[in-house]
Amino acid sequence: MEKITMKTPLVEMDGDEMTRVLWGMIKEELLLPFIDLKTEYYDLGLKHRNDTDDQVTIDSAHATEKYGVAVKCATITPNAARVEEYDLKQMWKSPNGTIRSILNGTVFRTPIIVRGIEPCVRNWKKPITIARHAYGDIYANTELKVEGPAKAELVVTDQNGNETRELIHEFKEGGGIIQGIHNVTSSIESFARSCFNYALDQKQDLWFGAKDTISKKYDHHFKDIFQEIYDKEYRARFEDAGIEYFYSLIDDIVARIMKSKGGMIWACKNYDGDVMSDMISSAFGSLAMMTSVLVSPSGVYEYEAAHGTVQRHYYKHLKGEETSTNSVATIFAWTGALRKRGELDEIPTLIKFANKLEQSTIETIEHGFMTKDLTLITTMEETVTLNSLDFIKAVRKTLENYI
Ligand code: NAP
Ligand code: MG
Repeated sequence: MEKITMKTPLVEMDGDEMTRVLWGMIKEELLLPFIDLKTEYYDLGLKHRNDTDDQVTIDSAHATEKYGVAVKCATITPNAARVEEYDLKQMWKSPNGTIRSILNGTVFRTPIIVRGIEPCVRNWKKPITIARHAYGDIYANTELKVEGPAKAELVVTDQNGNETRELIHEFKEGGGIIQGIHNVTSSIESFARSCFNYALDQKQDLWFGAKDTISKKYDHHFKDIFQEIYDKEYRARFEDAGIEYFYSLIDDIVARIMKSKGGMIWACKNYDGDVMSDMISSAFGSLAMMTSVLVSPSGVYEYEAAHGTVQRHYYKHLKGEETSTNSVATIFAWTGALRKRGELDEIPTLIKFANKLEQSTIETIEHGFMTKDLTLITTMEETVTLNSLDFIKAVRKTLENYI
């Protein structure tokens, strides 16, 4: 069989621990035999980030802007223990945070659905994608504890020194607590555009919920921005694509999501996205079956698995013990990136390959061959638990039947 050729390179961001091991296996078994893989390689493994003073992370984000599509392996976000373990020069920032701030993007997380791993919510038949606005609100807050009787005010001083004041609360004996939060119009606009673009890309409805009846300025601002951008820039394209944008109160959205069949993109404010994405991923089965894509408002895509580097499995692997680590979300990061590359460069064979690899991965599981995390939650009666490499080899066998 002739290998598929590529035109533009993919930005390849390698990572850490067990997912780095899976990364190599996936390339070896599922990609290199079939594709003349063209990537611009960045080693985001913690050692190399430390060696380059984290410049490699910044370079990889700029390369993503240049080429338009990246695929990323999970990476360690250092904490004190990691500083010691890797003898780091400093506690480098989260690579995902660095990349996100350069690309100014929104993260969309989608569960991978297979028969036999049933969602807890029976009527969910299609995946629900969560888009979280990862800027501001309580994640960039200022808080105070108020002791005893006191007056708390919101004060805004403009460039000319003019003050606007609003009373928050007159505290009585016993005091209380107070919190200041903010968001920025440009960030909300970017979030809205990323969501509208991704809905068009996926041909799925976009739902957005906030609490504008209670928060008449703050949450209302989100609602207004979404509506204005939709009306001006996206309404016609949504109508052509046969999809819709739907706004409602966040509690109404939650109720409707529970009763829905799934298949929509759900845009969430920062806190809602934090909480709801954990609910969605656990309700659909497993963190190891969640994909994640960062989409910039200008239409740049970075694909990855939603889970981390699976550290506990890596330490077993280092001791020479067998692991049964689920590679599905990492495989789907690759297929997402390859499909997008194929779409942008108009390479139908590459798009077809990406689809076939996804189908083969799902079929392999549906035929009962899976890693241990799935054996533990499946409703299938007869299953075979495979180790990390054997699962990938089983996917290859299924794939070869198609090719
Ligand atoms: P994690 O790597 O997602 O793993 C947490 C646990 O979930 C694992 O111990 C494992 O459970 C299970 N799990 C996750 N992915 C799995 C898979 N593919 N197959 C089988 N089981 C899987 O999270 P963590 O242990 O909290 O974090 C480890 C490192 O990852 C940290 O250094 C963190 O900074 C980093 N991280 C990176 C990203 C990213 O790059 N996007 C995201 C999150 C975390 P059992 O051990 O019970 O089998
Ligand atoms: Mg969370």
